[in-house]
This record gives sequence, C-alpha cells and structure tokens, in this order.
Amino acid sequence: MHLDSLRLVNYRNYSDVEISFNPNINIIVGKNGQGKTNILESIYFLAVGKSFRTSKDREAVKFGCKNAYIASNFIKNGRKNTLEFLIGSSSKAVKKNGLALLRMSELLGNLNVVVFSPEDIRILKDSPSERRRFIDREISQISPRYYANLSDYNKILSQRNNYLKNDKLDMPLVEIFDRQLCHCAGAIYMARRDFISKLSEYALEFHSSIVGRREEFRINYINQLNIGMDDTPQSAESALFELLSRKREDDIRKRNTGYGPHRDDIQVIVDSLDVKIYGSQGQQRTASIAIKLSELELMKAETGEYPVLLLDDVFSELDEKRQKLLIDSISGIQTFVTTAENAHIDIFEGKEYAVFNIDGGK
Ligand code: ATP
Ligand code: MG
Repeated sequence: MHLDSLRLVNYRNYSDVEISFNPNINIIVGKNGQGKTNILESIYFLAVGKSFRTSKDREAVKFGCKNAYIASNFIKNGRKNTLEFLIGSSSKAVKKNGLALLRMSELLGNLNVVVFSPEDIRILKDSPSERRRFIDREISQISPRYYANLSDYNKILSQRNNYLKNDKLDMPLVEIFDRQLCHCAGAIYMARRDFISKLSEYALEFHSSIVGRREEFRINYINQLNIGMDDTPQSAESALFELLSRKREDDIRKRNTGYGPHRDDIQVIVDSLDVKIYGSQGQQRTASIAIKLSELELMKAETGEYPVLLLDDVFSELDEKRQKLLIDSISGIQTFVTTAENAHIDIFEGKEYAVFNIDGGK
C-alpha cells in the first residue's frame, strides 16, 4: 500500500499544504523545528486515529485555529481510497471514501503504518508501559477487534480501580467487575501471545542477518499467568479470575488492580541474556531494528500488503552498517524518512526517491 498525496490544513505548523509522494522513498529534509515530524505524525493519525507523540489530539491543531484537517489519497490492494480527518478542540471525525466512520475502531486496518523513531530504538530500555503501547499499537492495526476489546478492558479496569477507592465495598460488585475484566483479558492474552511468538520468529532471522551469524534471539511474553501455547481465551480468563480472587485483599488494601494484562511486558533474550539489563547500546539498537523489520513482515503476512514505513530521525542514531542494512531491507515498502542532515540523502543512492525540503511549515 502507499500514499499518493497528503493535504494538511491548520495542522501543527502547516496552514495549507498539499504534497504528492513517491511510491518508494520520500526523504523529508529540513532544519530542526521546521515540521518534518509533523508530516509523519499526520500520516500516523490517518492510520491509527491518534498521534504517536501525544495523547492530546488538540495539540495537533495549529495555534489559534479551531480545527485541523488531514486528507490523503492512498492505494490499497491496487484501489484508490481517501481518508479525511477533522480534529477539533474536543472531538474528531473521520471519513473514508466520503462516508463518515462511526467508531475509531473502523479506521484501523485501512492504512497500516509502522513507525521507527529514536524512542523505538530505546524501547527496550524504557518502561513496560512503552512496550505494551508498542504491542497494542501493532496488534490493533492487524485486528480492530483487539482494539475494541482492549478499550473495553481499560474502561472496566479504571471503573474497578475507582470503585476500590471507596472505604466500604460491596464484594458481589467487585466480583462482577472481575468477571467482566477477565472476559476481556482472555482474548488480550491470546492475541499478545500469538503476536509476540510470531514476531520472535521473524526477529530471529533478521537479527542473524544483522549480526552476520546465528545467535540466540528470542522475544518472551512476560505475564502473571505464565500463558503458554496450549492456553485458550477461556483458560486465561479463568486463571486470571482465580488470581484476582486470591489477591482481592491485596487489591483492596492498595486500592488498585495489581493483576491482569495491564501488567504485561516483553523481554528480549540475546545469547541467553536479557538485553534490557545486560545488552550494550549497540545490541539494543540491533534488537530494535530486528523487531521493526519483523513488524513489517508480520503485517504483510497478516494483511497481504506491506504497511507504510515512517522513519523519524533514525539515521542519526544508527552507524553506517546498520543504516545500510535498514535501507536494504525496505525495498518495495513506501518509506517516509525525516532527517536534519542533507548528508543522509546519500545513503539512498541507487534507490528511487523524492526529496522534500521543509522550512517553517512550507
Ligand atoms: P526536529 O528536526 O527537531 O525533529 P522537526 O522538523 O521534526 O524538527 P516538528 O516536530 O515536525 O519539527 O515541528 C515542530 C514545529 O512545529 C515547532 O516549531 C513547533 O512550534 C511547531 N508546532 C507544534 N505544534 C504546533 C501547533 N499546534 N501549532 C503551530 N505550530 C506548532
Ligand atoms: Mg522531528
């Protein structure tokens, strides 16, 4: 799939701009603070319905304006589609091929993207919540049902946590929360288990080709239930219910829910060691590239087409060898690259690309 064109009106520092893209590589060059990442962010908005930088949509509306508008023509399965996004101060609306979508979950799976930014390079060092965000973002694009289920889970979780703040509790009510929570959790555990296991298989191959030898590389799914391949949504649901019941007194004392998929994490093992704890910076970078390249393959396997790849300022973070490897791995994938250094354009010599110079939102 690829984007043909993008129009931004009152989006961040853009007043009104329309850009036609190359179906292969698009290099967005400009000094710091000129609006390079803003373009990538707007593409991400069209795919996922929110920003990858902020959870506050209104920040994307140009200062002093009421609404921001993003529109794009994109090609999927050989067919032309349009997506239009209107972001207001407290609401957003989206249209596909001129028709309004009723729920954000209907947006997912139209335009698929994979982002690779300096934050992703550091993902293995970051907190578990960042890694959960990464997993959820990827699975949601492949499976809108996952997104809907996860939203329900989060809603019930926050209701349960709010209820636990009360001094007097009605136990049957806590149990109702638990049943609802566990029902959503069962499917979340299964989707995460399957995603991580597939990602791990792909990443082993990419990792070997980056380091130039066969080395152990594994992504483990860390969860409180020790979910295995023989678990089912039902077995996960009842195991969590049993755990919540057993730990209910703890939760009541802490006035918080200590068990469930909101406590999950992933662990990357290279050569028997946890990369987060023992990996060098270079090993962590290699691992993050292997994971990103795997995401591209996984999305293609699940959806039939490569997603669009957004590379935000990653070349300054990678050495020449890793830069080259990344670029050689992305043929046939429409890629948007931002960089503040003209020198990075040379890395793409011999490829088909277009260059866009950005200066103050123009
Ligand atoms: P860098 O190379 O440092 O990453 P960049 O070119 O990627 O820079 P962006 O993050 O795309 O820069 O854009 C930042 C600019 O956008 C800043 O100058 C900021 O003031 C401006 N900006 C951000 N939000 C808004 C907004 N809501 N309205 C107007 N301008 C905004
Ligand atoms: Mg930037």
